Amino acid sequence: MRIKRLDIGGFKSFVDKASLDFQQGITGIVGPNGCGKSNVVDAIRWVMGEQSAKNLRGKSMEDVIFGGSELRKPVGMAEVSMVLSTDDGRVSAKYLGYHEIQVTRRLYRDGESEYFINKTPCRLMDITELFMDTGVGARAYSIIEQGKIGMILHSKPEERRFLIEEAAGVTKFKARKQVALKKIDLTRQNLLRIGDILAEIK
Ligand code: ATP
Repeated sequence: MRIKRLDIGGFKSFVDKASLDFQQGITGIVGPNGCGKSNVVDAIRWVMGEQSAKNLRGKSMEDVIFGGSELRKPVGMAEVSMVLSTDDGRVSAKYLGYHEIQVTRRLYRDGESEYFINKTPCRLMDITELFMDTGVGARAYSIIEQGKIGMILHSKPEERRFLIEEAAGVTKFKARKQVALKKIDLTRQNLLRIGDILAEIK
């Protein structure tokens, strides 16, 4: 998957809607200190499902909503949409046949969140699944910020393994295994309960 476009509105310093088109090849974002370059990366991370305000350089998630400036009042909602091209075929079976996928996240000041895939409301889990094994998930290796290389080199083998598994394409299967194990556990508990009820009836 390749990022084709990013629409940002009400997010951090982007009070008015801004659209960034990403062409094939390398894109460089340049500008004076504090103009919002890192906020673009935060917007990408956020729309991909980031849940940690700290990873977005804030104290609480509300900090991503434009908080006002000398000239502008704060706004009530942040929205980021990312359009991805699937032309490289690296997309889960569910989205084969789509040339583009649009992922949208909204956050209102009252804390309400909304997620959409191709303008259809969805769960955060659907967005997380969409990015699993593609390397572009919120915690994957696609965003290499300052200090990340050093962190990878100095991390424990089991932490480094997470990145290798993502690149090898096994993250999704591990996540599904966890869900299946939880279901097995629930079923086991239900069977125990049924056993108790049957024993009482006898
Ligand atoms: P540098 O080159 O110094 O790293 P940068 O271009 O990466 O800077 P950012 O860190 O992306 O800049 O943007 C910082 C600006 O974003 C600051 O002026 C800050 O006030 C503004 N900003 C961040 N969050 C909000 C918010 N919620 N509401 C309004 N402005 C915000």
